[in-house]
Amino acid sequence: MPAHRIAVVTAVTALLVTAGAGAASAAPPTPAQTPKSPVAVGYLGAVSSIDADATAIGTRVLREGGNAVDAAVATAAALGVTDPFSAGVGGGGFLVFYDARTGKVHTLDGRETAPKTADANLFVENGKPLPFDAAVTSGLGVGVPGTPATWQEALRKWGTRSLARTIKPAEQLAKNGFTVDQTFHDQIANNATRFAAFPSTRSLYLPGGAPPVVGTRFANPDLGATYAQLAAKGTDALYRGQLGEDIAKTVQRPPVDPASTLKVRPGNLTTGDLAAYRAIERDPTHTEYRGLDVYGMPAPSSGGLTVGEALNILENVDVAKLSKADYLHYFLESTRLAFADRNRWIGDPAVNDVPAKELLSQSFADTRACLINPDKAGTSPLAPADPRNPAPCKAGTTGAPTPYEGENTTHLTVADKWGNVVAYTLTIEQEGGSGIVVPGRGFLLNNELTDFSFTPVTPGVPDPNLPGPGKRPRSSMAPTIVLKHGKPFFATGSPGGASIITTVLQVLLGRIDRGLSLEDAIAAPRASQRNSATAQVEQAFLDQPELAALKAKGQGFSAAPAEIGAATGVEHLRDGRWLAAAEPVRRGIGSAAVVLPGTWPWER
Ligand code: GLU
Repeated sequence: MPAHRIAVVTAVTALLVTAGAGAASAAPPTPAQTPKSPVAVGYLGAVSSIDADATAIGTRVLREGGNAVDAAVATAAALGVTDPFSAGVGGGGFLVFYDARTGKVHTLDGRETAPKTADANLFVENGKPLPFDAAVTSGLGVGVPGTPATWQEALRKWGTRSLARTIKPAEQLAKNGFTVDQTFHDQIANNATRFAAFPSTRSLYLPGGAPPVVGTRFANPDLGATYAQLAAKGTDALYRGQLGEDIAKTVQRPPVDPASTLKVRPGNLTTGDLAAYRAIERDPTHTEYRGLDVYGMPAPSSGGLTVGEALNILENVDVAKLSKADYLHYFLESTRLAFADRNRWIGDPAVNDVPAKELLSQSFADTRACLINPDKAGTSPLAPADPRNPAPCKAGTTGAPTPYEGENTTHLTVADKWGNVVAYTLTIEQEGGSGIVVPGRGFLLNNELTDFSFTPVTPGVPDPNLPGPGKRPRSSMAPTIVLKHGKPFFATGSPGGASIITTVLQVLLGRIDRGLSLEDAIAAPRASQRNSATAQVEQAFLDQPELAALKAKGQGFSAAPAEIGAATGVEHLRDGRWLAAAEPVRRGIGSAAVVLPGTWPWER
């Protein structure tokens, strides 16, 4: 950058810092006034999340000189307040970080873990798997939360600020309140029956017996106090202190209203399980695709490995040159195959021997790619292959379908002025998690353990995702960072349970191969083929002119229960600016922002 530009950048940054500091000490902004836009372009860093307050807090951290990790944690803590049915200290997640100083990509696994006493029969009662809903709203489904440890570890390793300082804006947001939007209201309404069964959840989210009215202010002082405790005492307050004791008590004796008819099974999570928890730094998955380097989350998430295998399969065709119908056919077939392998091989690497290197090898993908018939859809469930003994073009015999996973996490993406990038997906599993707010603490407990298979998915075929002591359930979360010549190109991620993988792949293909801008790739109509007879699709996907051609190839479709994914992303544009992109429609529109919008005066 020429010297005169550096001088202006410094001056502008100083101005912005002053403005930010002033804003921080003034009364909290009214969220209704917080602008919410799904696209923003400009300088000095970018934040994209589903929520305007969370994005505003993250952007303020960048403006005040924090780095991408500081901003990601601050944004996530704010999402724990405004998007509490998807995220919060009662849950877990996975964070991918590009370090501009070293050019390396790191990841943190903050996945929830099963108690030490869990075994393969965690969700089996009288010889039968529990009904899914019974496991969701229970103590049994609650894993040791990983989110506080993730925040602490990310800041300690790569951040520039203390946890106390970083979560302060979220503490204030919880105490002062924010304006209820339609999504917040609807997520409570969707869960009203089970929320009503727990006095702690009911009094917080169903004040007066109904969800808070859209447009009114909603505060969560208990959560504010929880954040204040984490700030004062560190994460030990939760993993070794009173907060943890309250979590264990709540899981072991779910605080259900005695008048409720809901049967809520207790779990056996102890303070010892909490004390044993660690967020784990893991090597990222790495896939080369069209000369780019795609980094993602390794096991126990299946995100990076499954997206990576699908990309390697698609290296066998020139996706950019295909007709749109053929492109969509190959997209659907690539995940049909990759999910067959995912379901057979991926679990917690501490317990299972996950053939990660082999699943990501190009030669293995080539043996799978040749099973794709350009004119005819495969018949699901396709059987998995053995990546350690690849047999070219050989279809196996026993298929492994994909079990159900909740679909309501949240993803945030951040970049800073130094070029650091964070892609972070966090969750409490189902919308509303277990439905149980820890009394007096203001946060919902996760139901992440229901991501385990309750019984082997395919009788007679080993299932790496059965519950076990201290085990982490397989995830689909796929925070992803793409580098070009070693520098950030773009980063993305999405909610959506197992459809996270297909959504992230679709965004990657849209951006890399199909000539779409990042915001258009995020907005595109979605389909999710996960080795099932039919792909789940959004209505907008069915409305496309290519549908007849896809049906003629034998592709089957079924309507997704709701929209698929609510992705976010950031891109480093060729002119040096950052683009922040979020959903333009889904989940009430996401919120993208940059530190300094627009262009420099001399560029106008
Ligand atoms: N539990 C899911 C997973 O770990 C994510 C939850 C969601 O998308 O709602 O893959």
